[in-house]
Amino acid sequence: MWSFVKDHKWLSMTAIALPVFVLGLAIPQSIVVPVRGAGPADWNHETFWHEPWGKSGVHKGIDIFAEKGTDVLSATDGIVIFSGKFGMGGKVLAVLGPKWRVHYYAHLDSSVVGFGHLVRRGKHIGFVGQTGNARNRPPHLHYSIVTMIPFPWRVDESSQGWKKSYYLNPSKILLKAHRRQNTQ
Ligand SMILES: [Zn+2]
Repeated sequence: MWSFVKDHKWLSMTAIALPVFVLGLAIPQSIVVPVRGAGPADWNHETFWHEPWGKSGVHKGIDIFAEKGTDVLSATDGIVIFSGKFGMGGKVLAVLGPKWRVHYYAHLDSSVVGFGHLVRRGKHIGFVGQTGNARNRPPHLHYSIVTMIPFPWRVDESSQGWKKSYYLNPSKILLKAHRRQNTQ
């Protein structure tokens, strides 16, 4: 009897979780460059997985340079899953977007959205700053894309190469997005 109840509970959990999971995958991912007015000339295309990179060892994202106070925009539609201080990132935002990918925005001067907020692609979510370990560097947005569904075929021999299963190269994704934005 009890095992039936447990199984039943498990089944109904699956019945809810599975469509949510599939829905997450099915939502098309459409991205914009997450700093207002920024283009490919504003980030270094070679710094993804660059090393040495301070305490992190390797650089798991890209830095988009802009004047302090420039608007940071949400790259995708999504839900804010973290807003606050986070170690070397200083003031950060994490937004869960389509395809179970978390978009991470760091070194913000401030943010204008909080935990649980739904954001649309292109929505103003904060301001470029120098918080965390960007204190002595020119203001920039650190932007990472983390997939919660691992891509094990991306793993290679580089330092912390196993993490490439989770960290995607935002430079490639943004270049495509920028090209699309400018050919429409
Ligand atoms: Zn960075």
